[in-house]
Amino acid sequence: MPDEPPMPSAREFRFGEGRISAVLGLFLGSLGFGGVLCLLFPSLLSTPDMRVHYPMGLLRGLILATLAGGFGFGVLSLLLRRGPTVGLAGMALSIAGTLLGGAGARPAAPSGEAPVYLGLDWFLLSLFLLALVFVPLERIFGRLRDQRIFREGWTTDLAHFAASHLLVQVSVLLTMLPAAVFFGWIVLPGVQAAVSSQPVALQFVEVVVLADLTGYLVHRLFHAVPFLWRIHQVHHSSRVLDRLAASRLHLFDILVMRAAVFVPLYVLGFSSGAIYGYLVLVSFHAILIHANLRFDSGWLSRLVATPRFHHWHHSSQRVAWDKNFAIHFPWIDRLFGTLHLPPGEWPSAYGIQGDPVPEGYGPQLGYPFRSVAR
Ligand SMILES: [Zn+2]
Ligand SMILES: [Zn+2]
Repeated sequence: MPDEPPMPSAREFRFGEGRISAVLGLFLGSLGFGGVLCLLFPSLLSTPDMRVHYPMGLLRGLILATLAGGFGFGVLSLLLRRGPTVGLAGMALSIAGTLLGGAGARPAAPSGEAPVYLGLDWFLLSLFLLALVFVPLERIFGRLRDQRIFREGWTTDLAHFAASHLLVQVSVLLTMLPAAVFFGWIVLPGVQAAVSSQPVALQFVEVVVLADLTGYLVHRLFHAVPFLWRIHQVHHSSRVLDRLAASRLHLFDILVMRAAVFVPLYVLGFSSGAIYGYLVLVSFHAILIHANLRFDSGWLSRLVATPRFHHWHHSSQRVAWDKNFAIHFPWIDRLFGTLHLPPGEWPSAYGIQGDPVPEGYGPQLGYPFRSVAR
């Protein structure tokens, strides 16, 4: 049997001890320093499709605020005499970011598009929003009120989060390529014209339903086929669920799921506006259903996936194995007989019995292949 979830602790942070300011200092200093790097090397460290839409005045203001916050909270933590190393690291990053040009930093030389880039901008913005929106929500509306922000396994999940965001170029390419290479021959221009001429709002609804149906099928395969299950075990290895547990996914899991979901959207020719809308929704909804949030509603939770629906998918209790595969719509599971949502009940434990998956990003990346070799 897996261990019980770690006992919640009310003593992680207390006002006045200085640890909050030390952690905030390091977090803001890192964001500010990373932001300056994006300003200095935009073609290497930012996503071209996103870069052209950035409100630069607002972003430079944000970088200035994070650098100032990193320094200020670092100083405060030193004055409160707790977490000096962490606080000093935040101050050092803020000073380094400022010396490199701060919010006014510009590329050293005009440069064209780099053939290879990292999505550092995508990583920093997502991390900022994750911290800004979900951490306060979980503190106020948490199911387990005192579950730690820095709970067991958070560094592993942050590494998954960083890798999947930094490698955005590779993942977009590998998501779209299989559809074009293997399914181009199915495409019917007349069908595509009819689909893309519908109102974008209607296309968006169709995309979400179709993507969830495809995702349901692929997710079931990941549970049913032994090699795919070893890959997907990485996602199920979390024994604590919160906003960051959504990121614990093997790269192969992400790529196969995204590529498969994209195939029918590509073949039917949905407009890019509807697909981008879906990408925003799925990014948000995937985090929401893993979050430590007690939000649940009778009729709504039968229609749209809530945290309680997906938390049951992660339960280590036998009754919930291979249940609740959908991401957005529980009625898809009801349709196929895989729904498990006892009214008002939450799982008592998460993870996989026997805890076969090692902790750490590298070991988790190699885990499916090592266990096959054995
Ligand atoms: Zn699963
Ligand atoms: Zn999950």
